[in-house]
Amino acid sequence: MFGKVLIANRGEIALRIHRACQEMGIRTVAVHSTADATAMHVRLADESVCIGPPAPRDSYLNVAAILSAATITGADAIHPGYGFLAENARFAEMVEAHGFAFIGPAPEHIRMMGDKIAAKAAMRRLGVPLVPGSEGAVATLDEARAVAAEVGYPVLIKAAAGGGGRGMKVARSDAELEEAFRVARAEAKAAFGDDAVYIEKFLDRPRHIEMQVLADAHGNVVHFGERDCSLQRRHQKLVEEAGSPVLTAAARDALGAQVTRALAELGYRNAGTLEFLWQDGHFAFIEMNTRLQVEHPVTEMVCGVDLVREQIRIAAGDRLGYGQSDIRFQGHAIECRITAEDPESFAPSPGRVSMYHAPGGPGVRVDSALYAGYAVPPYYDNLVAKLVVHAGTRAEAIARLRRALAEMVVDGVRTTLPLHQRIVEDAEFQAGDYTIHWLERFVARGR
Ligand code: ADP
Repeated sequence: MFGKVLIANRGEIALRIHRACQEMGIRTVAVHSTADATAMHVRLADESVCIGPPAPRDSYLNVAAILSAATITGADAIHPGYGFLAENARFAEMVEAHGFAFIGPAPEHIRMMGDKIAAKAAMRRLGVPLVPGSEGAVATLDEARAVAAEVGYPVLIKAAAGGGGRGMKVARSDAELEEAFRVARAEAKAAFGDDAVYIEKFLDRPRHIEMQVLADAHGNVVHFGERDCSLQRRHQKLVEEAGSPVLTAAARDALGAQVTRALAELGYRNAGTLEFLWQDGHFAFIEMNTRLQVEHPVTEMVCGVDLVREQIRIAAGDRLGYGQSDIRFQGHAIECRITAEDPESFAPSPGRVSMYHAPGGPGVRVDSALYAGYAVPPYYDNLVAKLVVHAGTRAEAIARLRRALAEMVVDGVRTTLPLHQRIVEDAEFQAGDYTIHWLERFVARGR
């Protein structure tokens, strides 16, 4: 097992990785920008190294500085968390070339899934159902028209290199297609330096349901069931549940069997998530994330597994040591992503936290790097806390979430806590009756 792990990230996820390492007897190295010198991940780690100024490209994306920090501290492995360098195949290659273990998949698989066109081609080959659309990149407006005519409007134009919900444009008619096609390509070029786009049928009432998978380096692959992440604003998840309110155990088993078979054939290693849209009882693959996901705790709660620990064990060459039949799903878990944003306008709200109180009690988990007196910097992601609850049934989980939200205090900055409180009180949410378009309308209604 590794003696020391460098955590190439910040915020709550850096803490999450630190906690898994501590429990495994592994020492940790935090890296941080000058803006994060007093951050909790730096305070808790066994060692820390400043890797540059606040701007992410100069610090958390600064590969040379991170590799130097790993070298001078004598780390054995690097965990990238999510975001920043987590899905950068070149980074994973460089980590390995410098003699460190990369706690994640093989670079070839990161590269393949990072190109959504290649990812869909791979899944088509492996027999996984896809959202209808273009077979590959769509280079001209004429091609776009032909695909749209075939699958029918509305269609969604998506960036091959897309992520974080950027570079997506809906066209509802032939008249809208030209503009949407041009804008999507321009946005993709600006955001990702790559204007390759593809086209999918725009589904009108799907749910976003994803499967968590782990694979070791010895060919063992298991799944940990699904997460329902349909509650989104601007294609960004706000609330996640395990399991999905609409999925039967039989449907979960069937999809799980399909994805584990596909990843075994691919020779995939470490943690991965396959994202699907679900509509009228049918699943259609949209993309695969080759990293730990923000919403991994809901899976940990219902399966009683530490996914970060498993990632580290797999990277060290351990066997999973259990099979699919050993994985049980118990109760229901819900996560709220609490961001430092105005709950109505969603304007970022960085600044000093004057008072912080985390809820507790049975079945409550808070993953956060906040503390009273901490100043939320303006340079990074706005996620400041993940409130996760677990209970025997979905109704009990909602009751627990309501009381935990009422206990939580974050003063000094605006947060989305009031929005989460409104969602929990909503009858449709309580009934589990929502699609990926529900939250956008709910937010608009509340204004
Ligand atoms: P990103 O990598 O940018 O997150 P995804 O492909 O995962 O992009 O899509 C993000 C979200 O956009 C999905 O969760 C879903 O809500 C919506 N979406 C993606 N593809 C479609 C589609 N074909 N029809 C309707 N909504 C879609």
